[in-house]
Amino acid sequence: LSERLQKALKNLTGKGKISEADINDASREIRLALLEADVNFKVVKDFIKKIKKEALGKEVQDSLNPGQQIIKIVDDELTKMMGEEAVSLNKSPHIPTIIMMVGLQGTGKTTTVGKLANYLMKNEKARPLLIAGDIYRPAAIEQLKQIGQQLDVPVYSEDNQDVAEIVKHGLEEADKNKNDYVLIDTAGRLEIDEQLMDELKRVTEVAHPDNTLLVVDAMTGQAATQVAEGFNNDLDLTGIVLTKLDGDTRGGAALSIRAVTGLPIIFTGQGEKLTDLSTFHPDRMASRILGMGDMLTLIEKAQQDYDAKEAEKMAEKMRENTFDFNDFIDQMEQVQKMGPLDQIIKMIPGLGNNPALKNIQIPEKQIDHIKAIVYSMTPEERENPDILNPSRRRRIAAGSGRSIAEVNRMIKQFKQSKEMMQKMTKGDMGELANLPGM
Ligand code: GDP
Ligand code: MG
Repeated sequence: LSERLQKALKNLTGKGKISEADINDASREIRLALLEADVNFKVVKDFIKKIKKEALGKEVQDSLNPGQQIIKIVDDELTKMMGEEAVSLNKSPHIPTIIMMVGLQGTGKTTTVGKLANYLMKNEKARPLLIAGDIYRPAAIEQLKQIGQQLDVPVYSEDNQDVAEIVKHGLEEADKNKNDYVLIDTAGRLEIDEQLMDELKRVTEVAHPDNTLLVVDAMTGQAATQVAEGFNNDLDLTGIVLTKLDGDTRGGAALSIRAVTGLPIIFTGQGEKLTDLSTFHPDRMASRILGMGDMLTLIEKAQQDYDAKEAEKMAEKMRENTFDFNDFIDQMEQVQKMGPLDQIIKMIPGLGNNPALKNIQIPEKQIDHIKAIVYSMTPEERENPDILNPSRRRRIAAGSGRSIAEVNRMIKQFKQSKEMMQKMTKGDMGELANLPGM
């Protein structure tokens, strides 16, 4: 969360229903957060209006405070606006499915043709043909040929000034070779002009693409909206590819384009490599626009995966001092179910982009080692950690393939954790800070 937004939300700590004052405090900050993310001004205005209506009088869930509740509403609404679910490409009932890439110069059309070919090959075992339809810069044809070589995919090109004709011949070639996908690269300009549009229209008439994808550079922010409108007026666009999301843009363009044109964003580009393409996830984008990592995903994960009853049972065991290695393993599995620990850390706002944590190694392997050690214990040993004498420890080490030192260390840590947790359940939360890993 942006710092400002975080501060504003911290002040909202009441319970019960969301009040008008809560909303007014929060909406000012949400508006700024969206504008900072380069969302179109008008889109922001409509959005805030919608949120105010949605949030007023809403019950605040037990586990959240009003600020968090408002953020959840904002996040849900943003997600809804961007389409809720991932949209896939249109498939032609007969081969080939034709995809035409359009957009301004330098947005990533040619690169995306390559990325998409690679994606289709990986996911559908496709046999695509690429058509070089940008004839104005000799380097453009060469660039596509190199991409073709890298992927081992054929590229159709021709020394011809008529792009529509090149595309026609390319499609004949695809028919002959029974390619199941044809990806057409086209020229761009620095800005939309009539000549470019005429050419693209003629290509469309020849190719009847199943997908006409507008490639938009996410870094261009608000300007992207006008470009999308312009292209959409002249061509029947079917979707958007938002590139360069690996930059530090918050991706407000995604929301604006979607709101203004209604076109789904289908893919995103996250880098220059041919593998840097992802399907678009509205929920992740919403969190990114708000600048809160994937905090909500984390909250949801925690809610889903951690059974409250289970937790209560553990606490009970702590109080009664019957927490044993079986419970220890159960708990560890709960944590593992939430996903890889380094991913979880990245989702926590303020931690995700903390440079100190950038290279941290989360001991995922270590958890597996601990589990191996516990699984090498007899049921009796798991229930009574106190009987683990040196000879038993030696046997466990041999059985689990870990060293005796490691087994000893693990048992010691288990005992320390247990002690610590026991203090906590008795209300001495001050000790929490000393827990290993906290
Ligand atoms: P075109 O003029 O629209 O065909 O654009 P290109 O495909 O030639 O790409 C222009 C530049 O942007 C190249 O240097 C690409 O490597 C780069 N590029 C394309 N997509 C991405 C992306 O998702 N992230 C980053 N960082 N660079 C990209
Ligand atoms: Mg190009």
